[in-house]
Amino acid sequence: MPDQLASAPLALSPIVAGLWRLTEWKLDVPARVRWIEQALELGITSFDHADIYGDYRAEALFGEALRTAPALRQRMQLVSKCGIRLRSAQRPYRVNHYDTSAAYVRTQVEQSLRNLHTEQLDLLLIHRPDYLMDAAALAETFAALTREGKVAHWGVSNHSTSQFALLHQQHPLTTHQIELSVLMMNALDDGTLDQAQALGLRPMVWSPLGGGRLFNGDDAQAVRVGEAMTPIAARLGISLATLAYAWILRHPSRPHPITGSGRLEGLREAVAALDVTLDAEDWYAIWTASKGHPVP
Ligand code: NAP
Repeated sequence: MPDQLASAPLALSPIVAGLWRLTEWKLDVPARVRWIEQALELGITSFDHADIYGDYRAEALFGEALRTAPALRQRMQLVSKCGIRLRSAQRPYRVNHYDTSAAYVRTQVEQSLRNLHTEQLDLLLIHRPDYLMDAAALAETFAALTREGKVAHWGVSNHSTSQFALLHQQHPLTTHQIELSVLMMNALDDGTLDQAQALGLRPMVWSPLGGGRLFNGDDAQAVRVGEAMTPIAARLGISLATLAYAWILRHPSRPHPITGSGRLEGLREAVAALDVTLDAEDWYAIWTASKGHPVP
């Protein structure tokens, strides 16, 4: 793959489709192809994978669809992650652990390329912070895989700001994938979103609907947030899900929410949020409900 491809700036679609739950959707190959086409038609061109999703099987399901309809690859950005060694039947580790060694990252990247039937990943993220990470050595691995055309851009997920900075100073990272939603707001206070803004790096946001807890949670926080959001959504004429996405998109770091829905309507509800701009009072009303107290 030519170097110029590797150095083209990363352009993710405003909404990214997440494939964590793909194995649960029970789609046959033609249905998977159709699902991808429909996402693309909605303007969702970036697809978020990880080596471990679906017990290490989700990437290959998606890749099977790409093998059937190879022209789709040119219309999308493929994101994957590695670094978690998750115990499974084929991988009987003594304990779940993290591994960012050169050999392991290379092995997993090459496996993701085979699974996804592609020659290059547009973005590869280190899934969780490896306490044994040697930042200089990992940066060398990044550089080698970039030179070989196997990965165009690099990032991390779920890192602290100092862990992010440690790696970023060794090799430029293009994004930080983090959890943020009306039910999980730590990134507002722990410096993660400040760092993203300071560096001009748009974060990717996982579990934007709290993994579905916004709809089915019966805990006090989920109930409070649902009660606060319902009248706002009604006034704006949008669904609860669209409002939850709009709450994320309102942040000035310009996050890319990652959908988790297998339903086309779930993708539509995410895209609809791109046309909604919440005012600060609505945004803070949801913050207040989530925290259970007003701003100080
Ligand atoms: P999410 O959008 O918070 O949750 C998706 C779940 O909510 C699905 O089960 C979905 O079911 C359900 N849902 C959506 N709309 C609903 C509605 N109106 N009523 C009832 N249920 C509804 O996202 P997520 O799946 O947790 O995460 C999204 C993506 O983020 C993943 O696919 C993955 O790519 C990424 N991720 C990354 C990390 C990381 O560590 N980096 C961790 C977790 C996830 P339906 O399919 O029926 O809509």
